[in-house]
Amino acid sequence: MENQMFCFQCQETAKNTGCTVAGVCGKKSSTAAQMDMLLFAARGVSVVASSLRKQQFQLPKDVVPMVLDALFSTITNANFDERAIQRKTVSLLALRDWLKLKAAHHNANVPHADEVDWHGEPSDFEEKSKSVGVLRNTDEDIRSLKETVMYGLKGMAAYVEHAHNLGFSDVEVEDFILQTLSELAIKQQSVEDWVALVLQTGEMGVKAMALLDKANTTAYGNPQQTKVNVGAGCRPGILVSGHDLRDLEMLLEQTKDSGVDVYTHGEMLPAHYYPEFSKYHHLVGNYGSSWWHQREDFVSFNGPILFTTNCIVPPLDGADYKRRIFTTNSTGFPGCHHIEADESGKKDFTPLITMAKHCAPPVEIEHGDIVGGFAHHQVSLLIDKVLDAVKSGVIKKFVVMAGCDGRMKSREYYTEFARMLPPDCVILTSGFSNYRYNRLPLGDINGIPRVLDAGQCNDSYSLVLIAIMLRDALHLKDINDVPIVYNIAWYEQKAVIVLLALLALGIKNIHVGPTLPGFMSANVRNVLASKFGLSTITTVEEDMKSLVV
Ligand code: SF4
Repeated sequence: MENQMFCFQCQETAKNTGCTVAGVCGKKSSTAAQMDMLLFAARGVSVVASSLRKQQFQLPKDVVPMVLDALFSTITNANFDERAIQRKTVSLLALRDWLKLKAAHHNANVPHADEVDWHGEPSDFEEKSKSVGVLRNTDEDIRSLKETVMYGLKGMAAYVEHAHNLGFSDVEVEDFILQTLSELAIKQQSVEDWVALVLQTGEMGVKAMALLDKANTTAYGNPQQTKVNVGAGCRPGILVSGHDLRDLEMLLEQTKDSGVDVYTHGEMLPAHYYPEFSKYHHLVGNYGSSWWHQREDFVSFNGPILFTTNCIVPPLDGADYKRRIFTTNSTGFPGCHHIEADESGKKDFTPLITMAKHCAPPVEIEHGDIVGGFAHHQVSLLIDKVLDAVKSGVIKKFVVMAGCDGRMKSREYYTEFARMLPPDCVILTSGFSNYRYNRLPLGDINGIPRVLDAGQCNDSYSLVLIAIMLRDALHLKDINDVPIVYNIAWYEQKAVIVLLALLALGIKNIHVGPTLPGFMSANVRNVLASKFGLSTITTVEEDMKSLVV
């Protein structure tokens, strides 16, 4: 049967080979077609923009944000609104044509490519999409490497967009994104050259994460050890999901003294670790669990929900909470209210606040707290204590269990792995994966919690800095000599850029699970296994023996 779509960018892709009829995530084939067109248009803009950049042409200020938005909108679970996606494509094609005029005016040499030369109306998009998606590359290994780069760029774009929202940018990273998208459109090169570009993407991913770390810590201070309440108060609330801290800040300012509380959901949990957010007493706590539990969590929450980034699970038909969903940034869902920023980046959250005042308070589904806030600065304050514990053998190993959570039953492995870890092991984590074990009573070692949660997926950067900190403090030559092992759970493309960043830093023997990425061909997996020792999980018992004991 002919494919109705093709997407294999996330861990839940059908049979770990590709979604061909509809997405396991709920993406329709018609939405997939619009996304293929959006990426086609983004590549076209990038080819022309890169040519102009080579002529030292100053790009208009909306070029990079529009390309970042296109990449971010196609991340798993970010945007299901195909009309909104189509509008973005129309805008990008118009931008591309405007840039082509500028290129002609400046005698910039723009290479020919379908992405540059094609013209069509929105009514042509569906037909055109059949020739511009993932399968346009017929060689399996080249396709695999190019898509690995593309997913790395998507993850990088997410981090850069968050930094932009806080007024931080890095022209080297932005030029890399444009140049690499251009190369994905026009460059014919060998497998070895694409492998090299995969690693360069990882190197640039480190810079993108460093940029966001700087943006977040400059704006909100260094994360500190914090207890986060997981119970519910008695006033109506607004639940904020996703990762964008600037949105949370604007919402907190606008809800001050309104009688409405604000709660975090999913990967917004680490917002509580930042000192600047602790001053908002109506930021009450974290409600519910990781992203895929939202169909239950949103029902009992009762109030409006704001999606600031990817994490949307399409509500079931008839789900009452759908009318309480609001989206912003690159997210979207048909029928849900989308909040746009004005020219200065400000957003008006009045519709949510008004709705919240008419909603019942959240139903308490648990009580107690979660401890986190162990980003690089907080760990640096504990380093003497940590070193004493390592030198005396009280801590034998650190296990990086960062990454994502997901629906697959096989992810119970991570809860079990955390539970079975010997008492002299400490988990270093960031991202959604911590929900698999952050309620286990794992205790502490001489006052050092056995789960050190650095924050969001982008805070994997902190875990790298912690590894470097330990390497230097223990006078070791190689980062692989530090007593740290890596057992990472991935789901979507932000985890891909984290993985590429770790590989680019030379970190070896990473376990990635619960499956190796379906977009990696057998040959690509073999290259990564032989060069970096990349492998996947087996059983808890086997992996415990090979990684820890
Ligand atoms: Fe399938 Fe994942 Fe793509 Fe959704 S994002 S269509 S689940 S591969």
